[in-house]
Amino acid sequence: MSRKAKPAPAIEGGHAPLSSLPGIGPQSAEKLAAHGLGRVSDLWFWLPRDYQDRTRLTPIHALRNGVAAQVEGRMLAVDTAFRARPMLKVLLGDERGSTVTLKFFHFRKQQADAFRQGGKVRAYGVPRPGQAGLEMAHPSYRVLGDGDAPLDELLEPVYPQIDGIGAALMRKIVSHALRSLPGDAALELLPVGFAHDMGLPGLRQALLYLHHPPADADVAALQSGRHPAQRRLALEEMLAHHLSLRRERVAMQRHAAAALPRKPGRVEQLLAALPFQLTGAQARVLAEVERDLEKPVPMLRLVQGDVGSGKTVVAALAALRAIDAGHQVALMAPTELLAEQHLASLRGWLEPLGVRIGWLAGKVTGKARAQVLAEVATGEVQLIIGTHALMQEGVEFADLALAIIDEQHRFGVQQRLALRDKGSGLVPHQLVMTATPIPRTLAMSAYADLDVSVIDELPAGRRPVQTVVISNARRDELIARIRAAIAEGRQAYWVCTLIEEQSESEVRIDAQAAETTFLQLQQAMPELRIALVHGRMKPQEKQAAMAAFKQGESDLLVSTTVIEVGVDVPNASLMIIENAERLGLAQLHQLRGRVGRGSVQSSCVLLYQPPLGKIARQRLDMLRHSNDGFLIAEKDLELRGPGELLGVRQTGLAQLRIADLMRDADLLPQVEQLASQLLRDAPENADAIIARWIGSALRYASA
Ligand code: ADP
Ligand code: MG
Repeated sequence: MSRKAKPAPAIEGGHAPLSSLPGIGPQSAEKLAAHGLGRVSDLWFWLPRDYQDRTRLTPIHALRNGVAAQVEGRMLAVDTAFRARPMLKVLLGDERGSTVTLKFFHFRKQQADAFRQGGKVRAYGVPRPGQAGLEMAHPSYRVLGDGDAPLDELLEPVYPQIDGIGAALMRKIVSHALRSLPGDAALELLPVGFAHDMGLPGLRQALLYLHHPPADADVAALQSGRHPAQRRLALEEMLAHHLSLRRERVAMQRHAAAALPRKPGRVEQLLAALPFQLTGAQARVLAEVERDLEKPVPMLRLVQGDVGSGKTVVAALAALRAIDAGHQVALMAPTELLAEQHLASLRGWLEPLGVRIGWLAGKVTGKARAQVLAEVATGEVQLIIGTHALMQEGVEFADLALAIIDEQHRFGVQQRLALRDKGSGLVPHQLVMTATPIPRTLAMSAYADLDVSVIDELPAGRRPVQTVVISNARRDELIARIRAAIAEGRQAYWVCTLIEEQSESEVRIDAQAAETTFLQLQQAMPELRIALVHGRMKPQEKQAAMAAFKQGESDLLVSTTVIEVGVDVPNASLMIIENAERLGLAQLHQLRGRVGRGSVQSSCVLLYQPPLGKIARQRLDMLRHSNDGFLIAEKDLELRGPGELLGVRQTGLAQLRIADLMRDADLLPQVEQLASQLLRDAPENADAIIARWIGSALRYASA
């Protein structure tokens, strides 16, 4: 039996503006507001990011490199040196003759004057090895008088830094704000007893504890975020994000969509014309999509399928269904390369059936752009394929009924929301496809607004890619391997990778590396037709090189990771990935997915630069042993955490304040259960939880 949640209580005092607190003038209030802190109650939830333990003293000799501690000692020497730049050094010593140096690079004269040789100082900081033993740079400190100075009774909270608001002021105003923290009954938004049943404290207790932990608190637990008081809040924060996604879904589905009937037409013609039969999984997912399309509410469906599982043809069939019903479809991909490839596949399948396809990307400009925009606006173009550009300004559709978004992990939620406004009156159905299989626990919270279909079967005859891991020292052996593959009429990829997250300068370095490798390989195998693709080439050049490779006009394609997603050349059977140790699991799996797309046995060589770190070895071993994207994703999650797996832009989850999806993953089932219960029994509490945790962000998003 589920317990009834109480209605959202009104919280007195918490609504007061921050300027009502002592020490907060209009300027400080503005700085706080920039961080979403507007009311007294916002400070209740502004949680420390760390704690300083000043409840005890550490003897100087017991200081450990890198471990924050509080020490006390006599000043043995005070040295104010104004040489190249000002520097204040205070040497502290204890009775045992142990010393530590306090170092200041910025200081005022009065500050320097307060340090007197022979006087006593208490300092808190992180000791690091320096020229003369351990040093603390910019410790917080107090010059002590002769009497005894009491130690703190509570751990000192360290709040996230806000420019212009000093640490002491922040602590002071939070303490003030906590005075108006109401009793649990007024504060609690979860069903009565829910937290208690999970062995977690009530909200009031948890907040008070986290802002002012007692001296005997488990600091290690607090610093690792695993304290029950933190878990109590993490539960509520994850719940808030989950609820807001579910709310978005509800809001989206309040709009009407075009109902697309399933009647015999060109879908059946295409199925008959394909050189293969759909796999059982493809057919099932297509049916799930078609059922959604028949309804007059917008479909919100994610199709997950491992690399090579055949998502594109499912998308093409769904598109055809909408076009047959007399509407328009848009298909968007995150890169031009990928969009172009979809264009080629869908032209091949759909143009023979008379479908009018248009192409729009950033590089389509001038007259060509004007023309395609006009054709989309009149409805002459039935299927428009392109990059994000499709969702940007200036693109008006005659009657957009279905938006297909490939490779979701590169798209932001905001972009998906923008779609809402693209249908004329009706909201388009949305089909999101991702090749990054996401572990179920994560999918549940990251995609709480989507229904999920999984293509969990590869086309028949596919053989798992054989993966080997070899050291760079054995690079030369690869020449023979490449020659052998090409002698059999196959093609090969050589992927040069330096760095995973690509900034502009890294793209340049990668391009250089690819060019160098390209020249070396050409020298080593002058009889081969070798092509080069990298991110610094002009789009036309890239496209031409890709097209030539696809048509078998080149044997070996040397590239950067630009080929990571979606590139489909079934005749390629060998892939070599350089510096594989630098890439994440999901990315390696994606890259490897470029081979093994036909029925021949394919292989992948992961080259690494020794020595191999422990995590890197685990990654490469995982790939050697498994071709299963879901398994690999689970492992990736374990090794890297969800932020990287999902991509930072993708979800609001990257902005979690206290929860950590990886660490707190065990709470997710309760989050889902709680969300359903609240939406059913106490929707006003659900709203209050969203407002409490992501209120300001949400207000911004819907503005
Ligand atoms: P992904 O799911 O990675 O996007 P694609 O849609 O690019 O995969 O499909 C990979 C390859 O498999 C393509 O060449 C595609 O034509 C082919 N394919 C798709 N479905 C089947 C099937 N049922 N049987 C055989 N080959 C298929
Ligand atoms: Mg694909």
